[in-house]
Amino acid sequence: MPLTLTVLGTASPHPGPDRPCSGYLLSGGGAEVWVDAGPGTFAALQRHTDPARLTAIWISHLHADHSADLLAAAYAFAYGGATPPAPIPVYAPQDCADRLAGFLGRADVDFLKGVLDFRTLYDGHDVRHWNLRLTARAVAHDTEAYGLRAECQGSVLAYSGDSGPCAALGELASRADLFLCEADIDAHRDGEDREQVHLTPEDAGRIAFEARVRALLVTHVGPTLTREQATARAAAVSGRLTRAAVEGDVHTV
Ligand SMILES: [Zn+2]
Repeated sequence: MPLTLTVLGTASPHPGPDRPCSGYLLSGGGAEVWVDAGPGTFAALQRHTDPARLTAIWISHLHADHSADLLAAAYAFAYGGATPPAPIPVYAPQDCADRLAGFLGRADVDFLKGVLDFRTLYDGHDVRHWNLRLTARAVAHDTEAYGLRAECQGSVLAYSGDSGPCAALGELASRADLFLCEADIDAHRDGEDREQVHLTPEDAGRIAFEARVRALLVTHVGPTLTREQATARAAAVSGRLTRAAVEGDVHTV
């Protein structure tokens, strides 16, 4: 089975009609992984697969626009009858389970033990499910955050998660077949020493060019840009096939 990326949602920072926040379904090598659980993506996921059959859930960081639909998934798995045959591994930054429990008004997530299995991500985290290998690298954001490199039988997908410019993004994207990259902001603010936590379209294009990716997919475009503008600006510097991530699209990596 070739590696495919299904776009479930791309919106930043809140969902819109038919436009959930960040979420993707990564399929290949016998595995199906829900990557980021932005609001609205659990519903979209059900158009493409049976959530109870997910191999894993992989969460880049715990900002609500990337993780809030873990609540929807917990309800589906715990109360909705969508019981997975075995607990689904949830690869996520530390505290994910405690945060979920807090929102649900529970002391812990023991009541989800039979359906979700929380495992903490770290820089260099590497796991294989059948022929799909997932590698996490810490990236530059205003909370603990990871980018992803997914490899399957010679095909490589890289995903920025949310990040400012950093060396790890270039390493994740190195010669990737498809680089799914955020372009959240119109411009970096001048005169500020603080770490940048998002990319401009030009940043995304430059990283794609320098990493020699085969194709760039622009996502997570914030409210100061349209995705058409962001994609055109990224394309102007990427020198690579550059498209916008659009809900419902399926890309063969
Ligand atoms: Zn974020």
